[in-house]
Amino acid sequence: MVGFEYAKKSDNASNKNNVLSDAAVINLDHGDPTVFEEYWGKMGDRCTVEIKGWDLMSYFSDANNVCWFMEPGLEDAIRGLHAAVGNAATDERYIVVGTGSTQLCQAAVHALSSIRGSHPVSVLAAAPYYSTYVEETTYLRSEMYKWEGDARSFDKEGPYIELVTSPNNPDGTIREAVVNKPDGKVIYDFAYYWPHYTPITYCPDHDIMLFTFSKISGHAGSRIGWALVKDKEVAKKMVEYIMVNSIGVGKESQMRAAKILNVLTETCRSETESFFEYGREKMKTRWEKLREVVKQSDHIFTLPKYPEAFCNFSGKLMETYPAFAWVGCKEENDLGSLLMKQKVLTRAGNRCGSDKKHVRVSMLCRDDVFSLFLHRLASLATDSLL
Ligand code: PMP
Repeated sequence: MVGFEYAKKSDNASNKNNVLSDAAVINLDHGDPTVFEEYWGKMGDRCTVEIKGWDLMSYFSDANNVCWFMEPGLEDAIRGLHAAVGNAATDERYIVVGTGSTQLCQAAVHALSSIRGSHPVSVLAAAPYYSTYVEETTYLRSEMYKWEGDARSFDKEGPYIELVTSPNNPDGTIREAVVNKPDGKVIYDFAYYWPHYTPITYCPDHDIMLFTFSKISGHAGSRIGWALVKDKEVAKKMVEYIMVNSIGVGKESQMRAAKILNVLTETCRSETESFFEYGREKMKTRWEKLREVVKQSDHIFTLPKYPEAFCNFSGKLMETYPAFAWVGCKEENDLGSLLMKQKVLTRAGNRCGSDKKHVRVSMLCRDDVFSLFLHRLASLATDSLL
């Protein structure tokens, strides 16, 4: 897949031990969330987990739980964090843990389509959408569901599943379902509904909600995600999918995630070391710098504007500071190719169901990579390459 080829090409630029040279290719195509490393470094040993040679050997974690491979400590940590942040209802819900929310999204699509009468069930998302949904729903060539693209132009009859990402990847907008027909099911992907990215304006209680450890704290390498699921049959089907796919989820990762999520929850009560406060300042500063470069470019580039809203978590008015910048250019240019000439890899808008005038740029890289990106974006404007 294209994304992975890109990753190899630019390994040199994203390795923190390398000093970035002018020749370095920087990869802002995928959203590798290394931006928060400094914070966790300052936490010292508070998040260290020790695992003995004889620990965690069984496949099973809790045979009485629908999700029998979920460590009870992780379930408690997840419920505790949502209670502290107020960004999802967890009462009377089953929690299904997955190897990242990537696995859970596929499990949910499988579960919802397997309990429908007629197949294939249409799968859609409003453009611009998270391009990985396309790969997730086409790669295995399942006969149970079919990727149908942009939800806004969906005019078929019959069962469908709409994927709603809010705040949206790639453009950071706050989203609701757009199709709203009686034969539909909705999967809410709340990867970025956390207070460092966006104001927490309500506590969602939808039937299926996906979250990922990757984008909360930045620990993408642990590959932990979870689904909050109202319906027991759907939760059971998702668990069945994960059984067939990987017979559960690594326990070492679950233990580490539980530890870090608990520390994160503790910091919500702290005046001085709140992770979300730190993360919001970090994202805000990056967005201000990016907007300044766009302004200096005489607005050759475009960026979406986000309204301020009251955040119930922080008790303040705040803007959205998305994990990705949806950068556009005014002329009919292929912005991805122009940036590639400047040695900046981004995700082309057409992969997200939009056009080549737009690209998705990760805002979650390390500081030195981000500075180099701003510099190269500014050069693109001043060299009049557009
Ligand atoms: N959903 C969205 C909207 C995402 O942006 C991502 C990560 N890029 C994921 C899901 C997958 O996250 P994970 O690392 O948990 O598989």
